[in-house]
This record gives sequence, structure tokens and C-alpha cells, in this order.
Amino acid sequence: MGKALTTDFLRLDVRHLKREGLLIAGKNTLLGQPEPNGAEPKPLIQIMGGQGGVNVRYFWEAGGQKRDVVQSIYLDSSACHYGNTRPWFLCPICERRVALLYLSENISCRKCKKLAYPVQNVGKLTRQIYRMHALGRRIGTKPGLTSDLRFRPKGMHVRRYQKLALLYAEKRLSVLNTINGYVNKLAQQVMKT
Ligand SMILES: [Zn+2]
Repeated sequence: MGKALTTDFLRLDVRHLKREGLLIAGKNTLLGQPEPNGAEPKPLIQIMGGQGGVNVRYFWEAGGQKRDVVQSIYLDSSACHYGNTRPWFLCPICERRVALLYLSENISCRKCKKLAYPVQNVGKLTRQIYRMHALGRRIGTKPGLTSDLRFRPKGMHVRRYQKLALLYAEKRLSVLNTINGYVNKLAQQVMKT
């Protein structure tokens, strides 16, 4: 079973809000989502600028229930080039500085929601490497095509570890097969020149 993806949720981008001047205290804005048929966007998220933060309000529907979510989000800033500052949200749950927050029954960052980035738009090799690394992390190997197995993670059953390690080896082999295919293709191209 895959993780939920960042693209599954509405999100707030602090840089976007700043650019649009929506972080200013006293400002009250309704943000909409563009309708697919080009109709007027319907307002979904209310943003109210406050002192040192913004208040966000929206309705969240799940299991046939509509919930009115209201959340204060604190802001932070860091210095960047030419004396400008760049804004950050502080995640309401982990309080880390983040540029993006995701909206569901609460507002929090990608890590708190355990969201993965979508990988369907990358090439075959990248996707295979991504999967290999994802599995490698579960069994404690270092990233890369030459790293050894290290040790069985605490609490993981031997059988399970062996099964995952074998699967990891298969994934590495498929990465190498893909690379091999690319190299062969290149060799054929060289022969034709
Ligand atoms: Zn967080």
C-alpha cells in the first residue's frame, strides 16, 4: 500500500501568500480553486492576516461529515539575498519551518501527514531508484548501487528482514538492468554513426 501523496491535499504556499500580499495583518481573503471548466473559482479557504501569523478557515468533508476547521499558523522569516527576507510557516504540529502546509482535518506539514511526493512523472530509472531507496531505508542500507546490507533493524523479525533484503536485491538488479538497457542503446547508436 502506498503512502498518501502531497498532491492528494489542498495546500498553502507561504511564498505564494506573501507574493499576493495576503500575510498582512488585517487582510481577509478567500482563496479559491480553479474550476476545471474555466468557471469562476469557488472560495474554499479563508485567510486572515494577523500579528505574526495568519488564521486559516475552511470546511473539511470526510465520511459524509463537514467540519469547520479554524487554525492559527505562526510565521517566521529568514534573511536571504539583497536584504530581503523569506517567510516560513511554522507547522502547527511539529513547529518546524516549512514553506508548504497541507489541509485535511487539520493543517500540518508533509512530514506530520507522512505524505510522499508523487513519482509518476519521472522516468523509469528514477522511479526504480526511488523504490530501491525506499525499500533500502526500511532495512537500514545506505543509498547507492554498491552499498552492503548492514544490520537487521531492531524489532524486525529475521524472516521478514530476509524477505525485504531479497526484494531489495531484486530492485537493485532491475535498476542495473535498466541502466544496462540504456548503455546498450547508446552502443547501438554509436554503431550507426
Ligand atoms: Zn509538521
